[in-house]
Amino acid sequence: MTRVFLLDVDNTLIDNDRAKGDLDREIRTLVRPDRAGAFWSVYEEVRQERGGVDFPETLRRFRRAFPDEARAGDVERAVMSVPFERYLFPRALDVIAYLWTLGTVVIVSDGDRVYQPMKIARAGLSRAAKGNVFVYAHKEDHLAEVQIRFPADHYVHIDDKASLLARTKERLDGRVTTIHVRQGHYASDPPAGPLPDLTVDRIADLLAIDPARFTA
Ligand SMILES: [Mg+2]
Repeated sequence: MTRVFLLDVDNTLIDNDRAKGDLDREIRTLVRPDRAGAFWSVYEEVRQERGGVDFPETLRRFRRAFPDEARAGDVERAVMSVPFERYLFPRALDVIAYLWTLGTVVIVSDGDRVYQPMKIARAGLSRAAKGNVFVYAHKEDHLAEVQIRFPADHYVHIDDKASLLARTKERLDGRVTTIHVRQGHYASDPPAGPLPDLTVDRIADLLAIDPARFTA
């Protein structure tokens, strides 16, 4: 039986909440507090508008809104140089290596086309996934595409967002096991649909799960 693991990135493999907190602190050392606040307002505005985080667009709009900001270049450098390899959750790479012993690992992440692939590469995740990386603005709309590229008898979707797991469950019912990793600020959001098959508190917990449960 062929098995494909669909792995999310933000708050599943990378502690994005912590990375964002550290970036905020760094930006506050670069610009006045009201400018730092404005940066995150623009970030939220873009997120609402596009349905996802988009740092390149956030930086563009920030520069346009504050053409007088002398440190705009430093803010951009801070955003573009976040050392994501330091924000991997403990044992995230071990989990990927372990899942490779059970099937094929595919990263399926939400994000923009520039920053998100860079983040995934910098964290060492592209290499760990052997280049199997998909980045979409709304990944739930591309499940069919992923299935064509990676056909399998059974899928295992691992994500911090229970609502996304519910969408996958509805579409692949009987051919998918959904695993909710309760990390990050979406951890307690309701699933809005079928409940996850398994719930773990940390990505590292997957190392201790009986592999049979990935298919049951
Ligand atoms: Mg996520």
